[in-house]
Amino acid sequence: MDDTGAGHDTAPDNSPAAKRQPPDDSAPVTPGASLVLSPHQDDEINRVAALVARESDRGTALRLVNATDGCATAVRTKLALSYEQTRRWRDREQASAWSWLTDDRSPRPINLGFPDGALVADALLPAVERELQALADATGTTPRLYVATWHPDRPDTVVADRHPDHVACHRVACRLRDALGLEVRFGRHVTAARPTGEVVLPDEHQRLRIEGAIASYTVIGNRSVRTTFEAILAGGGRSVLTE
Ligand SMILES: [Zn+2]
Repeated sequence: MDDTGAGHDTAPDNSPAAKRQPPDDSAPVTPGASLVLSPHQDDEINRVAALVARESDRGTALRLVNATDGCATAVRTKLALSYEQTRRWRDREQASAWSWLTDDRSPRPINLGFPDGALVADALLPAVERELQALADATGTTPRLYVATWHPDRPDTVVADRHPDHVACHRVACRLRDALGLEVRFGRHVTAARPTGEVVLPDEHQRLRIEGAIASYTVIGNRSVRTTFEAILAGGGRSVLTE
């Protein structure tokens, strides 16, 4: 399901004071492994682009797991694409964007392929557990989990946070956090009004890679969430994350 109309009435904090903030390099360098769980293609850009670029540069082993095929986008009908074409093209855009964000240091994204728009947590949970285990086995470390959506049950959420695929990703992450003690962070939507949380500001090269990642989404992503992409670039590419 795309994010068209999802809370685009608010602008990111683009004040001179916000722009003057230095890149966030004060946090401790903690290479390890991280799994990014995205409801569908382009959410990883809209929520955690700067975080991925930073972690990649720090040497973190990163995997992107995409929950759904992303085919509920209205762009599919507008462009008269078949379901299969839509999935392949969206995966292609995401793979290219992921190459930009990670500077080719992480494997191609994994698409779990659940039908977009009707995902439930019970179906998603075992698949995410499997991917976390695979990453843990490959790296010998317990992965952190970054989720490309935010809490759907809070007053300052955006419409996209409440889409079924987003809710399922959120629920799975909460269950894994509570059951396994996993470290989990959720990415706020760039158009959330005055989002609070850990701000990750990209450095200049990371910001250029975010530009490249967004350009990778020219055909479908840009037709689906253009205003969100514009807001990300206008805000210097930052990500905002919370527990
Ligand atoms: Zn979404």
